[in-house]
Amino acid sequence: MTPSSTPLTPAETRILICDTLSPAALEAFGERGFEPRVQTGMSEDELCACVGEVHALIVRSATRITRRVLEAAGSLRVVGRAGVGVDNVDCDAATERGVVVMNTPTGNTTTTGELAIALLCSLARHIPRADREVGEGKWNKKHLVGSELTGKRLGVIGLGRIGGVVAQRGRGLCMEVVAHDPYLSSTGVASPVEGVALVELDELLATSDFISLHVPLLDSTRNLLSREKIALIKPGARVINAARGGLIDEQALAEALEEGRVAGAALDVLAEEPPGPEHPLMGRDDVILTPHLGASSSEAQHNVAVGIAAQICDFFSDGVAHNAVNAPALSADLLERLAPYVLLAQRMGTFLAQRMEEAPRKVEVTLCGEIARQGEGYLGLSVLVGVLRRSDRGVNFVNAPLIASEKGVRLLEGAEENAQFYSGMIKVRATSRGGEESHLVAGTVFGRTPKFVRVDDLHLDLEPEGVMLLTVHRDRPGVMGRIGTILGEAGVNIRRVELGSAPSEDEAPASGFFSLDERPTDEVLARIGELEPIEQVRLVEL
Ligand code: NAD
Repeated sequence: MTPSSTPLTPAETRILICDTLSPAALEAFGERGFEPRVQTGMSEDELCACVGEVHALIVRSATRITRRVLEAAGSLRVVGRAGVGVDNVDCDAATERGVVVMNTPTGNTTTTGELAIALLCSLARHIPRADREVGEGKWNKKHLVGSELTGKRLGVIGLGRIGGVVAQRGRGLCMEVVAHDPYLSSTGVASPVEGVALVELDELLATSDFISLHVPLLDSTRNLLSREKIALIKPGARVINAARGGLIDEQALAEALEEGRVAGAALDVLAEEPPGPEHPLMGRDDVILTPHLGASSSEAQHNVAVGIAAQICDFFSDGVAHNAVNAPALSADLLERLAPYVLLAQRMGTFLAQRMEEAPRKVEVTLCGEIARQGEGYLGLSVLVGVLRRSDRGVNFVNAPLIASEKGVRLLEGAEENAQFYSGMIKVRATSRGGEESHLVAGTVFGRTPKFVRVDDLHLDLEPEGVMLLTVHRDRPGVMGRIGTILGEAGVNIRRVELGSAPSEDEAPASGFFSLDERPTDEVLARIGELEPIEQVRLVEL
């Protein structure tokens, strides 16, 4: 969930679609009341010239959203990529400006998995070469003897969304399927695909007849099939890559093919696309190359177009950023469950930032009970957004850590199993630079309503909403009446009052929390501040 500053109505939201999308996207936008403009094929200069007032940009892979474009886009809140890879969006520049970048990671999962299976079958039976030769007038099969798939071992590297589809389809082809995925193995999770064993990479390479790659391209996976790893591949095995170029040492693979150690390779992706004519894997009979076809099916194009349209509509209607690549990732389910706590956490941060005389420099967030693990990393960030919003209206989940480090605000997060009487509770302590000023607030959620249950030493039941007047005063008869009279004379209605006192010491200050229907003027605040028992008056707007 990412708040999108001031809410916009669908009619006010300016959305620019920069690449050709399935027409289903426009229909999906139309059903939610949004009317995007479509302008494709723009140069960077043209895009910079027209992007100033735009709130959302939608691209596939053709348009590049560069730092220059982002600098020219003063109102931009979100870039939507219909597809997975965001290589064409400068995510760092977007993050610096608090612009959410989101993709549609699942829309082409099945299609890409099916391409990997198509490449596997083509490799096993030399289909592209056979077709080519028939086209050339040859009718000869002696050199086209293939390999049966039944009973062969398929090694899937990366058992995520697409790897999972490939593993399942492999099982359907009666293959024995093993997989390597360090993130699954290290969490001790059983394989997510029934009948697929998780093994170490070296074992997979040494024992599989077909090896299919389905990992993202990261620093840790670049050159995953290095020369050394290729040397471990079972003699006569075949390699498929429908993931990303850069995962395989292509020169070393060409040499292994040349020496007959690897029997074939089918690659939909290459380190350099398109490859130059001198590429070592071009023009070989034992290699199948396709032009990054993974996501190219009408179903996938439809899915990603409708998916990005729905996500952009949700973003502007509900402030929810599904599949944000530069904000913490939460499943839609978890997002739904945490939503009231996210609101609570932000209000706690905003409350503390206004409660304090000095700006908070240390913010300690403790998540208790049922949210201790679920909200980890996300609710602390929500508090931070609330704290920073006081001084920086443009802050959101994307740029909050960056702005916090620029302002010298430290976020410390902890968790406790025990949430006292509640199923979930958040405690936040904010402290000023020198440590002289420090305040605590604790809150929970009743139903879906956020509540503050403690402010410093006072236990209360406060709905943190709208304008609140806080007083610290000596607990004398008539104080509340006099405050009420001043507010009443100024025409400010008091919706609710919560009082807290420290009963053990007569002269200890008490606190008042007045929920007001509107903001009193500075003059009214000054009059309240002048009342004899009042020690402090603060106005908090949530
Ligand atoms: P995913 O995030 O669902 O799965 C990736 C999996 O790889 C995860 O389970 C992760 O734990 C695992 N992994 C990470 N590092 C690993 C390592 N060192 N060794 C083994 N496993 C590792 O991603 P996905 O949606 O399945 O996409 C997989 C790949 O397919 C990505 O590279 C994506 O860009 C690519 N893709 C290609 C096309 C195409 O047109 N050819 C289309 C869509 C996706």
